[in-house]
Amino acid sequence: MQERVSDLESKNVANEGSLSNFSRALGDFAQKNGKTMQSWQDKFCEMAGIYAMCLDASGIPLSDFSGNPHEVQIIRKYVTDVRIRNIYRRVSEGELEDQAVEITEVPNLKLAAVAVKNGNSTTAVWIVCGVFSDADYDQDFYHIPPIDSFSYQISEQKFYKTLDLLRETLNVLISIETSKSQAVANSEFSKKQEIEMTSSFRRAETMTEIVSLLDNDDSIEEIMVVIISKLCNYLQISNGFTCRIHHGHLMDIVVQWTAPGVNKMFTDTTDQELCWFLGSDQATVISSDTQMNAGEREQIDSLGIKALVAMPVIINNSILFYACFSETRELRNWSIDDIKFVNDAIKVLQGIITKRLQKNSLASSFASLEAVLDNVGSAIYVRDINTGVLLFANRSLKKNFKKEITENTLVDLFESNIPSRSHSGNYEVNHKDRGKWYDVYYTRIKWVDGRAVSLCAIYDITEKKLYQKRIELQAYTDFLTGLYNRMCCEKDLARYVDEARQTGKHGALMYLDLDDFKHINDSLGHQYGDVLLQDISKTISRVEGISNSCYRMGGDEFVIIIPPESFEKMDKIIEDIKKAFATPWYLKNSDYYCTMSMGIVRFPDQGDNVSELIRKSDVAMYEAKKSGKNRIAEYSDKIDSSSIHRLDLEKSMYDAINNSCDEFEVYFQPVISEFSMKGGTKQYRHMGAEALVRWNSSKLGFIKPDEFVPLAEYLGLINPIGNFVLQRACECCRMWNESGTGDYTVSVNLSVVQIMQTDIVDTIKKCIEENHIKPHNLILELTERLAINDLARTKQILLDIKALGVRLALDDFGTGYSALSSIRALPFDIIKIDQNFAKDVAEDDYSKAFIRTIVQLGETIDAEICVEGIETKAQFDALKGMGVKYIQGYYFDQPLRRAAFEEKYVYNSKV
Ligand code: C2E
Ligand code: CA
Ligand code: CA
Repeated sequence: MQERVSDLESKNVANEGSLSNFSRALGDFAQKNGKTMQSWQDKFCEMAGIYAMCLDASGIPLSDFSGNPHEVQIIRKYVTDVRIRNIYRRVSEGELEDQAVEITEVPNLKLAAVAVKNGNSTTAVWIVCGVFSDADYDQDFYHIPPIDSFSYQISEQKFYKTLDLLRETLNVLISIETSKSQAVANSEFSKKQEIEMTSSFRRAETMTEIVSLLDNDDSIEEIMVVIISKLCNYLQISNGFTCRIHHGHLMDIVVQWTAPGVNKMFTDTTDQELCWFLGSDQATVISSDTQMNAGEREQIDSLGIKALVAMPVIINNSILFYACFSETRELRNWSIDDIKFVNDAIKVLQGIITKRLQKNSLASSFASLEAVLDNVGSAIYVRDINTGVLLFANRSLKKNFKKEITENTLVDLFESNIPSRSHSGNYEVNHKDRGKWYDVYYTRIKWVDGRAVSLCAIYDITEKKLYQKRIELQAYTDFLTGLYNRMCCEKDLARYVDEARQTGKHGALMYLDLDDFKHINDSLGHQYGDVLLQDISKTISRVEGISNSCYRMGGDEFVIIIPPESFEKMDKIIEDIKKAFATPWYLKNSDYYCTMSMGIVRFPDQGDNVSELIRKSDVAMYEAKKSGKNRIAEYSDKIDSSSIHRLDLEKSMYDAINNSCDEFEVYFQPVISEFSMKGGTKQYRHMGAEALVRWNSSKLGFIKPDEFVPLAEYLGLINPIGNFVLQRACECCRMWNESGTGDYTVSVNLSVVQIMQTDIVDTIKKCIEENHIKPHNLILELTERLAINDLARTKQILLDIKALGVRLALDDFGTGYSALSSIRALPFDIIKIDQNFAKDVAEDDYSKAFIRTIVQLGETIDAEICVEGIETKAQFDALKGMGVKYIQGYYFDQPLRRAAFEEKYVYNSKV
């Protein structure tokens, strides 16, 4: 790329040619986008307002500093090669740091390094320089004035965020690339293994077929053709022939075989000119790339041969004839396995011929047969069918099955599965004691002495079995978490249900879905989301009784099966799981709470097939979500009927949102506020309205928000709906205020899901600006559920929203379970006390006391109090004098359609 930073000399530069994986990944990435890495970096720097360059794993620059060259030159005066080397070392060596920031002699110039790591090894380091627009420095300390009028300037806060972004983006990129190449490597390995397996299988099959020809009464020529054709098919080659040499320079073709569609090699078969590759007492092997002289080449070409193997067939120490195998269609280079195979087959052929030639000499025939069978790759034995006596065992069998031979258990082991009256076939045998798998080929033939025997050839296929198991395990494992996956869950569940049914026992299926996982993913980034999923997986699979039955179904959904043998411990198991979620998870240097909702169904009583059980547990889980999350719900038939409704609801909701939210309507309920008259007497009047959404579905009719908002949150659809409500509310607020009759406020409910959207602050800001409303006139209502996740982050978002000038209200206060202290930490302007307290306020002292306490609390934290759900005069009167600032309820009005609301409160306002 360019010359190395001079002071990095000491580093190893040997791998300049093999750029780190990372730069390759980045290069790929850049290429895909039709840009070079430099131009990607230039754009990034321009967007962020920084000056940066990148070094690879060994310190070699992968890119130049981005930015105006003149400015870069000035920066490089202070950010010297030595400094770059030092900071590069800080972040790339050791595991402690992957990011470092250092000051320079210039008060507003900082130098940073961000290492991108794959595991513990550094793949690249970005050197980043920031010129701060908001530098706050001690003048006595610096001798050089701050840099100004540089084209890229950045605030300190944004500088740190940019470093994070840079690291996270690149880490994600790397992990994607690594897992991609991992997957490619895995699948290539599997493919190779599979090919090897099938070929060794075909070899065993072909060889056994050839061996069984020992028993054949056909003529030698006929048997030769069969053997040659089998060999050619196995090798997938075009021609085979046998020939005999006579008169030293002529040959006769004995038999020849050609693959379908291939021409015969010899039209005349007698007294042919002898081929040069015949005549040796060894095998002659000619591959397409074998070197030979011109004469040899000419003869080979004239026969159309691209590759050939010629083998002498030797009987009683003399060469009887040659067997040749050739390919005429395409180039072919023989493998050692090919040659070995041909050699074995030819030995069998020799055995057959020997048997024929020496029919009367039993002993010698037996000896040559033994020699042949000893050399065949598999273990072979021959047994008299009538007496059961073992007549012959080849070398491999004697070596591998010594114990079985002495204990006389070969038959039990290998022949007990032969179907009766079957003449030949094959099957697999599992030898449990040895932990081995065998493939057994058996055939019934007549032995050399005419006896009926069974011949068994045994192949060790343990490797193949293990490989299959591995593949199976892969197919059943979830890559990210190491838990089993959905497929495995379905398989296991079917087995457990069967077991329960047969033994009269019970089991349970628990469907578990993380609450608000999306927020963790959105706020911390996917890699932390992944870490959380891994941590959770580890924790749940450690719970006693279910360690082997936890599954990840996808996303943030898990299934746990309580198998019949653990069913008695069900309560304890649930307790343990609850406990696991009650403690925070440690992510990115702080504690995060992540709750879950769980649905339980029992089998076999509540369902006895897999899909039914999974569906029912999902239905129960959804019920838990609907009733406020962080809960466990048991399945019952009652919930089930509503789940059909839920599906309708889901579908209609998607439709409604795709139709630009036309079916949604915003109603307004007046909010009455207390104010002081002259002379100190308190009075109430209307000042604002709470926007409450309604859904008038064309298919399902009118639906209350209590019913559809939780589902919308669950499906992530609350964002478009919420934006619609916010937009409508702001529009109306503007209208009312422009009508000149008063200063109206509007309250809008925001879901936790909305708050966690990364662009929520911008969305609100845009809405205020576009509608020209005073930010102070917009109140956003949030519930206590906010506090569950990541308090620090929530607080920051709320502060950002407040910075717009908008007011925040804490809704439904008194119902939640979160601590008062965390509520105090959040910047609320208004606390809305839950309706339940309004219900009893006229008669119940506790409710009264509660409201009074909250009013006092409000005073100390500078928040105003609103009481909702006031329905009667008695309730209203009970509140008087308590210091409650806002009141809302049917006593004044129900939520009204916009027109009705405006009619009554805007145009005819008595204010
Ligand atoms: P919420 O924010 O607590 O809203 C107050 C609910 O109390 C409203 O129910 C309102 O009609 C009802 N209400 C008001 N005065 C009285 C009264 O005197 N007695 C009784 N019994 N009820 C009264 P609604 O409109 O059915 O809304 C229910 C919930 O749905 C709301 O509770 C809020 O959590 C949610 N929701 C409504 N609109 C939206 C929205 O636009 N976005 C979001 N995220 N949630 C919404
Ligand atoms: Ca509300
Ligand atoms: Ca409320």
